[in-house]
Amino acid sequence: MTEQIPVTEGLFAQTAQGPRLLGSRCRSCEAPYFPRSPVCRNPGCEDSQMEDTDFGPRGTLWSCAVQNYPPPPPARYEEPYTPYAIGVVDLAEGLRVVARMSVDDPMALQVGSDVELTIEPIYRDEEGRDVVTWKFKPL
Ligand SMILES: [Zn+2]
Repeated sequence: MTEQIPVTEGLFAQTAQGPRLLGSRCRSCEAPYFPRSPVCRNPGCEDSQMEDTDFGPRGTLWSCAVQNYPPPPPARYEEPYTPYAIGVVDLAEGLRVVARMSVDDPMALQVGSDVELTIEPIYRDEEGRDVVTWKFKPL
């Protein structure tokens, strides 16, 4: 099996229960954060007490767009460039997150549909490793 490495450390993980986003939640006001936050930014919260937690895997597609042109560096992608969808997903835990979508036809995505977190390669690096990121795929 090809070795996999995360595109960025500390944002997502493959757990025993499946892929999860790594975030945090304030114990005082319950506000969720992704990525992890060392402090609570809720202006109405008077006692910032953060704890690590994880989010996912289910969500609802709130909006989406097609990335028709290659993103600028440091973003990388498989050559030749193929347009892909970017989704804004509402998670059950009260978060709205942006992610690439895992679909063959970006135009077939439907706002309001149920989606699930997945971890997939986005390109292969110079050492032959698959660089992976989090995505959502329609259920
Ligand atoms: Zn708080």
